[in-house]
Parts: sequence; structure tokens; C-alpha cells
Amino acid sequence: MRALAWHGKYDVRVDTVDDPEIINPRDAIIRVTSTAICGSDLHLYDGYIPTMQAGDILGHEFMGEVVEVGARSTLKKGQRVVVPFTISCGGCYHCKKQQFSACDNGLPADNQDIAQTAYGQPMSGLFGYSHMTGGYAGGQAEYVRVPFSDVGPIVIPDGVDDDKVLFLSDILPTGWQAAEYAEIEPGDTVAVWGCGPVGLFAVQSAFLMGAERVIAIDHRDGRLALAKRFGAEVLNFEKVDIYNALMQLTGGIGPDAVIDAVGLEAHGMFVDNIVDHVKAATFLGTDRTHAIRQAILACRKGGRVSMPAVYGGFVDKFPLGAFMEKGLTLKTGQTHVQHYMPALLAAVLEDKIDTTFLISHRLDLEQAPEGYDMFKNNQDEVTKVVLKPGLGGF
Ligand SMILES: [Zn+2]
Ligand SMILES: [Zn+2]
Repeated sequence: MRALAWHGKYDVRVDTVDDPEIINPRDAIIRVTSTAICGSDLHLYDGYIPTMQAGDILGHEFMGEVVEVGARSTLKKGQRVVVPFTISCGGCYHCKKQQFSACDNGLPADNQDIAQTAYGQPMSGLFGYSHMTGGYAGGQAEYVRVPFSDVGPIVIPDGVDDDKVLFLSDILPTGWQAAEYAEIEPGDTVAVWGCGPVGLFAVQSAFLMGAERVIAIDHRDGRLALAKRFGAEVLNFEKVDIYNALMQLTGGIGPDAVIDAVGLEAHGMFVDNIVDHVKAATFLGTDRTHAIRQAILACRKGGRVSMPAVYGGFVDKFPLGAFMEKGLTLKTGQTHVQHYMPALLAAVLEDKIDTTFLISHRLDLEQAPEGYDMFKNNQDEVTKVVLKPGLGGF
């Protein structure tokens, strides 16, 4: 089959590789019909995530048709499914608590020690996202093996277009969980750093949860315009001082809740950010953390901090003093996708949440390297690239 493989920094190629096979009775094989490039795929593309190996197949946002099932899969051939990016067993201590991204059994047994060493305990496996998260082949391919297919994938009713439901695989539940973790109360003012897909879904979710005002922060006018479409007030951090603007907009109090949807590759020429850049470039540090620092300083006293953004390693200059003195709470983590999928599928089918506005480009799988390049270098216009194997037109 054809699949997009990582070969190094800024080097991804569509290769011909072996077709995936059922190796466990709970597996299913999916013929991929749509798969998206995620902002967190750019962290791989940019070489920020350790434990990648040449030839690793990327992609964790995908859906398709079931073409083969193991003896213990609950799926049936011919069904259309969206697959969560987290690989979770459904039966361990954490899965039983609906905390699927904390699954104890998502990583292969011989692959648990990397995360164990870095994080203290292994986490769930992830598709197409380095060997620290299991080394699973991803879904930017014609076919993909889905472990625990009796737990993860959600069946999509006939006649519903891929583009409406594809984002149930990651960014829609991630934006929703981000808003839920901000513990929004009716009347709240919520500030969202980053108007990428997760930030934009967090904006929509925050309003649905009762926020009176949402203030969206980015430096790309095209993305700020999308946030505005959903009713957000917008701030461009290249044009205004964000802390002062937020104080002005909230009568000097600060937002009730803040959401960091930026993560480890924060942009901008701020002193702390430049130091992080230098450290990351020289391997003295792994994360650039300007957004979360600013969010903590701007948040009102006693407020809530939600951090869906991806961070990989250790940080310094984390304002722990401000965090304690202001009495903030922080909730974060990879998304418990399986927990949110059924309700969000219903919301999409009832047209309560719009997801298709996000897709700016639909390309054939063969054009994936071009898609990565476009997404990396023109994030103002390229909001989301969806790859469709067999689409043609290139
Ligand atoms: Zn993603
Ligand atoms: Zn589990």
C-alpha cells in the first residue's frame, strides 16, 4: 500500500510499504477514506518529538471503511468508522474510569519503558506519533491496523459525509475537553490562546457551555476571523499587549478561565520565548512555553487554567509563584476521545457543532508532503488539510 512515512526533519514521503495485517483478535483493518494533518503532526515534521524512526507512518486523525476484522472485534466489514487517536484497552483501571488516554495497556509491553522513564508511568498508545507512544503505524495511508477495535472506533451512519465527522478522531473532542476542563460557568469570560483547530473548537465549545464572552488570541488574521465568526472577540498579539488588553476587557480582573491551545512551539519575539528557542535549538530544553506563562499571569485570581496544548518535556520559568499565590487550578492531558465521541457525534448530526468550516484543502494522499509544507508555511490560509487516498486531481 501507499503510506506517508517520516524520514527526518522536514522530510516526509509517500512510500510503498507492506499492507497491515491482523495480529491480535481484537484488531480491525480500515481502508482509510479521509485523514487529516494535525498541528501536532508539525511537531514531528519540525523534529521536536524524540523517538521517531525513519519509515514511521504518520497520521492520527483518520476514518474509513472496515475491510477485515479479528475474531474478537465488534466491528463488521463494510461499516464506516471514525477512529480515536488514543489507543486504549477499555478494561484497565483508567479506562474503566473513562480516562482512556491514561490507559495502562495501550503501549506494547516492550515499549513501555520510554514513557515510564520520562513520565513516571506509561500512557495510552497513539497512532503515528513516535515510539514513545507505542510506535504504531498511523492513518495517513491507504490502510491501517486498529488495535482494540472493539473499544475505540465509532460507527458512522450511512449518508453522513466524511468531512462532517472526521474531526471526532481528535481535534473536536480535544477542543471540547479543553472547554470542559476550564469549568466554564454561565456568564464567564474565557480567553483562548491559539486559533488553530483545537482553539477554534474550544471557542465554539465554550459558548455552548455558557460562556458569555470568549476572547481569542493569535497572530494570524485569517484564523482570528474564523474565531470572530463564532462570536469571539479577538486579539492579535503582534498588534497589542495581550496582558494589558485582557485587563482592559475585563475591568482589571482577568478572564475567569484561560485555555492554552498553543503548546510547545509558541511563536513571537518575547524574551522568555527567545531563550526557549535557543535552548530547544541547542537541545538544552524541549518546550517553548510563552503561551502558558502569559495565560497564567493574565488569568483572574481563583481562576481556571486548561491546557490542551501538547508539551513534551521539562520547562523552566514556569510561574509557579503566580500559580500558587493566585490560587489557580490547572487541568490538562491528552484527550479521552472515546469518552466524548458518542455525544459529540450526536451534536454534529444535530448541527449543533460545525466542523466543516475548518477544511481549507482536500488533497490526494500522494500529495501529503506538499500538504505538510503548505500547512507549515502558510497557516493563515491553510487551516486544515484533509488527505483522501484515491482522490486524484494532481
Ligand atoms: Zn491531532
Ligand atoms: Zn485501558
